[in-house]
Amino acid sequence: MKGIYFDNNATTPVLPDIVATMLPFFGEHTGNASSAHAAGVQARTAVERARGQVAQLVGADPSHVLFTSSATEAINTAFHSALCFSPDAGSQIVLTAVEHAAVRQCAVAAKARGVKLIEIPVRASGELVLKQLEEAISNDTSVVSVMWANNETGVIFPIPQIAQLCDERGVSLHVDAVQAAGKIPIDLEQLPIDYLSISAHKLFGPKGVGALVASPKLVRPLVHGGNQESGRRGGTENVPAIIGFGEAARLATLELEHRASSTALLRDRLERVLFQRINGCYINGVDQPRISNTTNLGFDGIDGDVLCGVLDAADIYVSTGSACSSDTLSPSHVVMAMTGSYERAGEAVRFSLSHLNTDSEIDRAIGVVEQSIASLRSTQAPA
Ligand code: PLP
Repeated sequence: MKGIYFDNNATTPVLPDIVATMLPFFGEHTGNASSAHAAGVQARTAVERARGQVAQLVGADPSHVLFTSSATEAINTAFHSALCFSPDAGSQIVLTAVEHAAVRQCAVAAKARGVKLIEIPVRASGELVLKQLEEAISNDTSVVSVMWANNETGVIFPIPQIAQLCDERGVSLHVDAVQAAGKIPIDLEQLPIDYLSISAHKLFGPKGVGALVASPKLVRPLVHGGNQESGRRGGTENVPAIIGFGEAARLATLELEHRASSTALLRDRLERVLFQRINGCYINGVDQPRISNTTNLGFDGIDGDVLCGVLDAADIYVSTGSACSSDTLSPSHVVMAMTGSYERAGEAVRFSLSHLNTDSEIDRAIGVVEQSIASLRSTQAPA
C-alpha cells in the first residue's frame, strides 16, 4: 500500500507469514474438516490446532472456542444463547452506551421481541458509570454486554470488576473483546466471563472469521444445519480462514508485549506533538486506561469527516468512528455518549496504529495534520 495506514481498528493487513500458513489449504490440502478420509482428517487436525491457538490467546479451554464467520456472528450467537436460557417476557439486556453496532443492533433486535434494554452511560472521560451498571442488574437480567476496549477511543473498561459483579449476581456476561484481543492480556481461566467475542481481522488474520468463546453448555446454535463445530454451528468450516486465525492468534500471543509497547511509543508521540503544536487539539478518553494503538482526536471547529477526506487525499488513512457506520454520516455515538455534544462528536477522528507503523510515518502524519488544520482554519469564515 502506498499510503500510511492508521485504520487498524477497522481492519489489519494479513501478515505474510499468516498468508503463507493459509495458502496450502486453498489448493494442496482440500479436505472438508468433517470428512472421514485422510484429506478430511488433515483439515480437521489443522482446524483443531487453530482452535488451540485461539484458545491460548484468551486463556480458554480449546473446547470453548466456536469458530464463526465474524465477531458479529459470535455476538449474535451469544445474545441468542443467553436469551434462550431466559425466555421469559420481561427479561432485560444491560449494555453500555458506547458498544459497537454489532452489539447495539443485537440488543435492538431483542427489544423488538419485547426484551427491555438498559443502557449504562459513560462519563465525559469515557469511564463507565459502574454504580449504574450495578444498580441496573436485577433478577430479570438475561445478559450484560460490555466491550473490553472501545473501538473508537481505545478506552478499556474494568472487565475483571464487571465479571465479578455479574458472577456474584448470577447474571450472564458477554464481553466484546474484538479490540482487546492481542492488545492486552486476556485470561479467561481467571475470569468468570460466560461469552467472549473476537475477530481474526483485527489481529492481522483474514477477514470473515471470528470466534465465540463460551462453555458449549451455554451455546445454542444460531445457524442450524450439519453437526459442524460440535453441533454449535451448521455449515462447512472455512478451513483456510480458521488456519489463518490460529496463526494470527499464535503470533499475537507471542508478540503481544512488543506490539503494545511499540505502538504506545508511536501513538504517544503523535498525541504529544499534535497537542503541543495545534491550538484547540484535544484527545477523547485521554485520562482513562486505553489500548496503546488508538487515539481519538478532535480539533476545535474542524469537522472530522472533512479532515479525514483531506488526509485521505494525502494518502493517510484514518477514520471517524467505526467502519461499520461510516456510510451513515452520523457523528460518533461514542463521543456523543461521552460529551453530550453534537459538535464534539462531529469533530472526532480516530488514528489506530499497529506495530507495522514507523517513526517516519508519524513524522509525516504530524506535518500533514498540522498543515491541514491550518489550511482548513484559514478558509473558515470568522464567527
Ligand atoms: N466489536 C467491535 C468492538 C469491533 O470493533 C468490531 C469491528 O469493527 C466488531 C465488533 C465486529 O467485528 P467483525 O467485523 O468481525 O464482525
